[in-house]
Amino acid sequence: MVPLMAPRRIAILGSTGSVGQQALQVIAAEPDLHACALSAGSNVELLAAQAAETGAEVVAVADAAAGGSGAFPDGVAVLTGPDAATELVRRARADLVLTAMAGSAGLAPTLAAIECRADLAVANKESLVMGGALVMPAAEAAGVAVLPVDSEHSAVFQCLHGHRREDVAKVVLTASGGPLRTWPADRIGRASLADVLNHPTWQMGRKVTIDSATLMNKALEVIEAHWLFGLAGGQIEVLVHPESLVHAFVAFRDGSVLAQMGPPSMLTPIALALHWPKRSPRREAPPLDLAAIGELHFEPVDAERFPAVRLGHAVLAAGGTAGAVLSAADEAAVEAFAGGRIAFGRIVEIVEEVMNTTPVHTEVTLESIRAAGAGARRAAEGIIGRRGAAAGDV
Ligand code: MG
Repeated sequence: MVPLMAPRRIAILGSTGSVGQQALQVIAAEPDLHACALSAGSNVELLAAQAAETGAEVVAVADAAAGGSGAFPDGVAVLTGPDAATELVRRARADLVLTAMAGSAGLAPTLAAIECRADLAVANKESLVMGGALVMPAAEAAGVAVLPVDSEHSAVFQCLHGHRREDVAKVVLTASGGPLRTWPADRIGRASLADVLNHPTWQMGRKVTIDSATLMNKALEVIEAHWLFGLAGGQIEVLVHPESLVHAFVAFRDGSVLAQMGPPSMLTPIALALHWPKRSPRREAPPLDLAAIGELHFEPVDAERFPAVRLGHAVLAAGGTAGAVLSAADEAAVEAFAGGRIAFGRIVEIVEEVMNTTPVHTEVTLESIRAAGAGARRAAEGIIGRRGAAAGDV
């Protein structure tokens, strides 16, 4: 039978990562969604298998050396190199672009998607943290939807739907607290990569999982919430909730508080973003059994042990290119920790030092963001090299 409507064409940037693979799982079960374009960093083998399974018409591989070796199905256009994801977006004729790659590589393709009038499902936090001042006005001018995939922001988005922004008193993003939530400060400082990757409630990519252990993830999410929902920094709070079942609260001025709940699975917010404004007609997820769960717990963030969260508010207070500085410094510090070059406790210290010593430019352009990010990365590398050499850091 001929479907009444052509399937919604979806480009997935970062299809071999955690969110990308789960998005393909959602799409595979939905005849009204088609993965028309896929991009990856360097995992060509998985990308080729995904292209064969989905019938994607075009693929992109950021790592040019890896790209040429792929065994892609006949007829699939293969783009390679650092700008390949942006070129992919321009060629894809997508109705919606899901940005699920990690890191600062997300910004340029996000802007390209807006130029092409594709709606955005945003899983790449950095595109908003670094470039929210470019992305949100451009999206509004182009009339494209910006749909959050991050679970907390998907929750806020759902709670705000149908409500006036001026009626909102504040939003509260929840944090599981990560694998080190109950650890004393000195032990947190010495946490190993294995300790950090052992997340209690969420299965995620490596960068996000490390950011969840420092709680830098929440700093990034505070900034993300500012851009997505037009909220001031003082209206965005973070609350630790170890069960990860309530994803966010929206408190209205009249005293009413709406919360969104669901099991800690990214499949739910991914499916919602891909189907918005509908919900998946086919997805059958078991409802939360609150009687079996019995209790939910909430506690304030301990700013002594987890100083990263306040950096998100510091970025909003500073404005300009401060988000690019935070994002790039964190990327460099997380890589250094994952590579065994610095102790876990140094990640946030280095990011804070870079933020305190890097001038903020008030004019936000793609160029000023790139320059701020590159400068912050150099500054972070400088600190990592200096301290590592001086103190035998790890
Ligand atoms: Mg999140």
